[in-house]
Amino acid sequence: MNSKQASALLCNNFLLSNIGLNSLNSFTLLETDYLIIGGGATAMAFVDTLLSETEEDQILIIDRNHQPGGHWNQAYPFVRLHQPSSFYGVSSAELSKGIKDQVGFNAGFFELASGAAVKAYFDDVMRHRFLPSGRVQYFPMSNYDGEGKFTSLLTGEVQEVRVNKKVVDSTYLQTRIPATHEPNFTVAEEIPFIPINELVNISEPPEGFVVIGGGKTGMDACVWLLDNQVPADRISWIVPRDSWLLDRKTTQPSQEFFESTVGNMAAQFESVAQADSIPDLFKRLEENGVLTRVDQDIRPKMFHGATVCQKELDMLRSIKKVIRLGRVKEITTEQIVLDEGSIPTSTNLIHIDCTASAISNLEITPIFQGDRIIPQTIRSYQPLFSASLIAYIEAHFTTDAEKNGLCQVVPLPNHDTDWIRMLATFMMNQYSWNQHRSIRKWLLGNRLDGFSQLLAEADRHDPVKQGIIKRMRDNIMPAMVKLQQFMKELS
Ligand SMILES: Cc1cc2nc3c(=O)[nH]c(=O)nc-3n(C[C@H](O)[C@H](O)[C@H](O)COP(=O)(O)OP(=O)(O)OC[C@H]3O[C@@H](n4cnc5c(N)ncnc54)[C@H](O)[C@@H]3O)c2cc1C
Repeated sequence: MNSKQASALLCNNFLLSNIGLNSLNSFTLLETDYLIIGGGATAMAFVDTLLSETEEDQILIIDRNHQPGGHWNQAYPFVRLHQPSSFYGVSSAELSKGIKDQVGFNAGFFELASGAAVKAYFDDVMRHRFLPSGRVQYFPMSNYDGEGKFTSLLTGEVQEVRVNKKVVDSTYLQTRIPATHEPNFTVAEEIPFIPINELVNISEPPEGFVVIGGGKTGMDACVWLLDNQVPADRISWIVPRDSWLLDRKTTQPSQEFFESTVGNMAAQFESVAQADSIPDLFKRLEENGVLTRVDQDIRPKMFHGATVCQKELDMLRSIKKVIRLGRVKEITTEQIVLDEGSIPTSTNLIHIDCTASAISNLEITPIFQGDRIIPQTIRSYQPLFSASLIAYIEAHFTTDAEKNGLCQVVPLPNHDTDWIRMLATFMMNQYSWNQHRSIRKWLLGNRLDGFSQLLAEADRHDPVKQGIIKRMRDNIMPAMVKLQQFMKELS
């Protein structure tokens, strides 16, 4: 341990043992190599890898929350990860118990950690890995004001940090969740109107429920109500736009699910390679199980990468009062006014706001910008894997041009056709990483990369698995060519 590490460790030990994590007084000089804005999951995954891949760099994290994990601190009580726990979190610490669910909609698939488990996990990583390393200083309950300054939300004290290397802005994507978002429509005071978080506090049964929002949060609200014995005919579901969805069966990171997981990747490449138009592509993607939807008669216009199990889909399909009249503009005591019409309502119904869009900033920007790093997704649907690999690239490559070349931003999808741009960039990044032996090797040891390990460990004598790998390989180049053609059409 060098002298910088020793003094940071001393400070952190002092904080932990004497006054908790949030005192500022023991630091006489605030200086760091990397200043991290935000202490959410993205920041945690980035810092974890930076700690592993550098020997001496000092890191200082500033976050408004009282503990790490970002939006998980305000998430609804019954929230769960949308993906298996085994490849979520930070690379160095396991989140999964390695078990499959035996009950509930996810039965038969790998467990999905609860929000409480995710929070406890990040707290553990901070207390047992980051702070004891002697290289991390952590300032919760603090707002970063810019220009190296931050203010304690408890004392108002302003601190300044000298940053020797880079500022990492992990807040760029601006995750929004129901508890911290303002709906963009008006609601009469007499109307019972709650964010999804408040569902668990209901003590007087209403006549029924109106779930507002067609995204993953709205689906979670519907599934939770049905799971808690609310009859489907007491639920109205306002769906402004239908979404294409991903089947959770295709995200299972084990050899046992090779056919559905790696097979799904082969099916994506094959569907693209064989499609002769964009509508034909979506038809093939659905036929091949890559995408699914709640209502097979309605062509979705939205794609946010939401993931569901077949059982959740069946539950959602049992709701017959689905209102497709665009977005809500106003809720009065008697009606809900939408873009394309209105429906009756009453003060005897509970209206549940699920209209927050998880990611509100879809504008992409280069990740490496001189003395700033702005983590974004470089593999589809995987913000934490992305943050971890970005930290690895930061530690081992030199110029911004080289680093950005390896980390092209995979745009977050919004419209259905964004799927095309997303796959194209994902494939280009994967190709670039494969050109570097060091990256290939590192990916195999990264817990957040479930996919590379699955491929590497596939039994060479298993004809089914080898057939899937061959389908993937055979279709990569034709798919790449076709994606370029479709992107030209779209632009
Ligand atoms: C319900 C839900 C389920 C999800 N499930 C999955 C999943 O299964 N798999 C997956 O990969 N992704 C999932 N996601 C996506 C999810 O957004 C990411 O996994 C991740 O948690 C986002 O973390 P973040 O650090 O980027 O953002 P945030 O969690 O928003 O963290 C940002 C932090 O920065 C702080 N901050 C902002 N501005 C400042 C400032 N000026 N000063 C100080 N601090 C500041 C905020 O307070 C916050 O603590 C899910 C998202 C939601 C909403």
